[in-house]
Amino acid sequence: MKPLTETKAFTATRNACKLCAPLGASMAYKGIQGCVPLIHGSQGCATYVRRYMISHYKEPIDIASSSFSEESTIFGGGPTLKLAMFNVGNQYKPYHIGVTTTCLSETIGDDVPQIIKEFRGEAPELAHIGLAHASTPSYCGTHVDGFHQAIVSVIKYLSSEAEPNNKLVLLPGMLSPADYRYLTEIMERMDIDVIMLPDLSESLDNPHWEDYKRIPDGGTTPEQLKSLGGAKSYMQFGDVLNKGMIANTVKRKNINTPGSVLEEMYNMPGATTGFPIGINATDRFFNLLEKMTGKAIPEKYTKERGRLVDAYTDGHKYVFDKRAVIYGEEDFVIGLTEFLTEIGIKPVLIATGGESSAFKGIVKSKLNPRHNPEIMVGADFEEIAEKCREIEKPDIMIGHSKGYYIARELNFPLLRVGFPIHDRFGSQRVLHIGYEGAHRLFENIANALIEYKQENSPVGWKYM
Ligand code: SF4
Repeated sequence: MKPLTETKAFTATRNACKLCAPLGASMAYKGIQGCVPLIHGSQGCATYVRRYMISHYKEPIDIASSSFSEESTIFGGGPTLKLAMFNVGNQYKPYHIGVTTTCLSETIGDDVPQIIKEFRGEAPELAHIGLAHASTPSYCGTHVDGFHQAIVSVIKYLSSEAEPNNKLVLLPGMLSPADYRYLTEIMERMDIDVIMLPDLSESLDNPHWEDYKRIPDGGTTPEQLKSLGGAKSYMQFGDVLNKGMIANTVKRKNINTPGSVLEEMYNMPGATTGFPIGINATDRFFNLLEKMTGKAIPEKYTKERGRLVDAYTDGHKYVFDKRAVIYGEEDFVIGLTEFLTEIGIKPVLIATGGESSAFKGIVKSKLNPRHNPEIMVGADFEEIAEKCREIEKPDIMIGHSKGYYIARELNFPLLRVGFPIHDRFGSQRVLHIGYEGAHRLFENIANALIEYKQENSPVGWKYM
């Protein structure tokens, strides 16, 4: 009999290369000022989400749970969800509650919009609290899908028609607080009246507090949500966004991205561009920004770009033709692929846990035509590990910390980017986007390769 490890016929996911959809939804709700995420399901789901977010962001993360019991599982979760909204409304005094559904509540078929409607009638004293609801079963998508579904719900439930104004709605997607701060600074320097939706720049990376705050500062304000319907245009980052959810269920034929909901609800024109990682993608972002707002790019960014070109020239010899494995969320991986191609690194394995049918085609369009990497969709880490063992040894792995055990086994460096990063400090301050983000990524990759070579050299050289 063959040992189990040689058997290929696995049908179950082993160590998923994606996370839970309510996790992404909770992250998005954390970027709305005064919003408390409420996970409709068992306490275990909320604990997992809290644990992942605390470990990455090093912030207090309060996430409520409707705390399913056996009774709710059999007779429906309506009473527990109502009680949870009542308790959160009274104890946290939030501006909004963001309800995100779990696998269990979706499987038993709780009609959450109806439960919310009944709650409105039963708790008129809490009528001032906005209630948003995102349908986020994890078996229909990833944490990124959950993130975008939550933003869609914020637009649908918490925004309203408004007087026409000159604002730009920026939908950056799942990026770090450092990335959000970088975008905020660009908008300030270009004097663009922006509504960042969500705004994670402060709420998931707050300064030190003297006294504990139940709801952290920061996030898209209620006033911004009130003026959202009158905004002049929107810009959203991402090629795949939450469209991959369609692939997973026939029920979800009409998945809308946040941008398409703005178009539908408010007839708002807009543009979609990939994550601005690397020079080419950042150029496209700035050009689009100039075109949409009529504002010129400040000199600070043309200088940043110039320094980046200089760094590429100086460091090219350290990175050229190196072989990289990259993995993570679809849009983030697409951004990384374009960036690595731009700096002369050869991706040999590109993997995502997402299942969008568009992913492979978009990735291929970003590659150097001479490169022909393995591209894995809907992958788990065991499949990625197996593929890494089969191919010629890569020089570097780029992704979040869940891939560490592969890098450790096969002995190559891992550069930690994206979410989640549980085994390093400062994860919330990793800058990925813009010329500055590309500069830092480039230096970190070059130095990881240099360090690996130096550490594994029989000669203790000190100069390069
Ligand atoms: S059961 Fe579903 S919702 Fe709950 S933690 Fe697991 S994947 Fe997330």
